[in-house]
Amino acid sequence: MRGLVLFDFGGTLDADGARWSIRFHAAYRAAGGKQSFAAFEKVFRESDRALGRFSGIEKLGFRAMIDAQAALLLARLPDGVALSQQNIADQFHSSTCAVVRRNETLLERLQQSYHLGVVSNFTGNLELCLQELGLMKYFSVVADSGRVGVTKPDARLFQHALTWPGLVATPAWMVGDNFESDIRPAAALGMSTAWLAPGNDKPPEAGIPTVRLQTLSELAAALDS
Ligand SMILES: [Mg+2]
Repeated sequence: MRGLVLFDFGGTLDADGARWSIRFHAAYRAAGGKQSFAAFEKVFRESDRALGRFSGIEKLGFRAMIDAQAALLLARLPDGVALSQQNIADQFHSSTCAVVRRNETLLERLQQSYHLGVVSNFTGNLELCLQELGLMKYFSVVADSGRVGVTKPDARLFQHALTWPGLVATPAWMVGDNFESDIRPAAALGMSTAWLAPGNDKPPEAGIPTVRLQTLSELAAALDS
C-alpha cells in the first residue's frame, strides 16, 4: 500500500530551506541593490500582498510570476528604478531550476513507493507553475491555498490533500521548511514530519519533527529508516 508524502513548495521544493525573501534579496544584491535584508524584507512582504491581488495571477506560470514579483519589488525599492528587473528575475529563476532539476531524482524515486502531493500557501497558479517547472507529473494532489481558500497553518489545507480521492494517507508525511506553518500543524494531525532546516535553529517544540533534513536530497534515506 502506497503512503503519501506531502511537500511545501517555496523553500522546500525550489530551494533548500531558503525563503523567497532571502533568495530575492540575494538576486537584488547581485544586481547592484544596496538595501539591507531587514529593509528589503518589509518591501518584499508588500510585494507578496500585491502579487496576491495581481490581475490574472491565477493564469501566470512560474517565470511570468517571478517577472511580476520582481517588477512589484523594484517599484517599491528606493534604488529599484536603477536596477535590471530581468537580471533579478533571471537569477531567481535559474537558481530555482537548478534545485528543481536536482530534486527530480528524488521525486522520481519516491514516486515508486508513495503518492506525492504539494500543500502550499500560494496564489492559485501553483499547478501551472509546477507544469512549467516539469514537476506536475510527480504529484497526485496539489492543495494551493489560493484555490482551496484556507492557508497554512490551517489544518483544512492539509486535510484537503489527505482526503483526496484515490489516495491512501497512511503513512503520511509532511515535508517543509517552515516549522509553524508546515511542521507543527501536520504533526498535530498525526502525520510524520520532515523539517528542512539547514541552519542551527532548534525545533521550537520537543518531540517534533520526526526527522530533520539539511537538504531535501536526504529525504529518501530518512523515509526508509
Ligand atoms: Mg516554505
